[in-house]
Amino acid sequence: MSSIEDRFRELHPKSKPLSDKANSLFADGVTHVSRQMSPYPIYMERGQGPSKWDVDGNEYIDYKTGHGSMILGQAHPAVVKAVQNQMANGTHLSSGTRFEVEWGDAVTRLVPSVEKLRFVGSGTESLMMAFKMARVFSGKEKIVKFAGAFHGWGDTAYVTDEKTDRQYGIPRGTSAAVINAPPHDLDALDEILTSNNDIAAVTFQGNDIAQPEFLTGLRELTTSHGVLLIFDEVVSGFRWSNAGCQGRFGITPDLSTFAKILAGGLPGGAVGGRADVINTVGEGGIRHPGTFNANPLSAAAGATALNILENEPIGEIAEKQAVRLKAGLNKVLQSMEIPGGAYGQASVVMVSLGTPVDIDDPFAVPAGAEQGGRPVANEVLNELQLAIINEGLWTHPASMILSSTHSDDDVDNTVSRYEAGLHAVRAAGLI
Ligand code: PLP
Repeated sequence: MSSIEDRFRELHPKSKPLSDKANSLFADGVTHVSRQMSPYPIYMERGQGPSKWDVDGNEYIDYKTGHGSMILGQAHPAVVKAVQNQMANGTHLSSGTRFEVEWGDAVTRLVPSVEKLRFVGSGTESLMMAFKMARVFSGKEKIVKFAGAFHGWGDTAYVTDEKTDRQYGIPRGTSAAVINAPPHDLDALDEILTSNNDIAAVTFQGNDIAQPEFLTGLRELTTSHGVLLIFDEVVSGFRWSNAGCQGRFGITPDLSTFAKILAGGLPGGAVGGRADVINTVGEGGIRHPGTFNANPLSAAAGATALNILENEPIGEIAEKQAVRLKAGLNKVLQSMEIPGGAYGQASVVMVSLGTPVDIDDPFAVPAGAEQGGRPVANEVLNELQLAIINEGLWTHPASMILSSTHSDDDVDNTVSRYEAGLHAVRAAGLI
């Protein structure tokens, strides 16, 4: 056992029995694939702003930020108040509520391409519904996505290229109705759209780092082939700009999918876009139930959060801190002579260790990343993850998501803690 792991076990005694029990209860011992950790995951108790505390009382600066949903930080007072009020007034009224109308209205104000929308339960559901709407609207069946893109765990979204292992449990018919296009390749997409006359939509993952010319070309190509364009804004929505990736780069998709920030840190998702496409739901069209669609708690939290985003420069503050964090981490990597770099768009910071990246080009990615691969050696990453957790950073070492509550001090402390983690890994002979 390494001294990093020794320290991890010393700091996290109370998580161990929880993990042991969880192993007997849950397949794979966790409830989200990315929460798996070796030697065992740790269990969090509470969060406030940019900080979190685990069951042993250790404090962390948080960069997982609710898988990207907490751009306002943990327990924002206005969101807490809205949810507490609604909690006392009933959590499911089996009817529409004032909040769902305010929530939907806020989405249409923030995202101009959204003429109408439908609330669903999660990001995964939003993609499932968007694909269904596209099929019904166009009368065509196939969905084109880009290889390596992640669009939730619905069957259609999970059809990846044959070399990957994610196709378990997906019916052959579903696989046949999905085309994985090479990423960032307009010629290849043109060829696919020309040689298939049964394509309902092309889907782009808004938080994929792509050149703006690619996005413009994507819109032009789909329009000229008469195929719908779906932007998956589950991560980029209300983060790349208040109008998401589409707002940042001036693209108007036909449909967009949202979740995470949309619901203010509670569960929820939505599909929005052209009224004629959204109107495929309803009498004579798609029947759309869902017990917790726009439930009062998510609606109250979501309406409150979007209202704050509309009135305060939340995304700008988070992005400014991300720029500061990238600069600090890049200085550390340079001084330790570790090839790689901190890069990424908006308030998401990616860290490449081992593979260089042009940190002066905002659209550059390290080799391999375009295909969805992480250009980082796994054993180094695992050890670094434990080392930075020991230092009080709650994050994956290659991917950090900021909130508007991260202060200059938090970012500076993060850089020095990350550096201490790298030194511990170096002392173990790994980097
Ligand atoms: N689309 C993207 C781009 C995502 O990153 C995710 C989740 O992280 C999803 C869809 C699925 O969202 P959810 O986890 O809410 O089902």
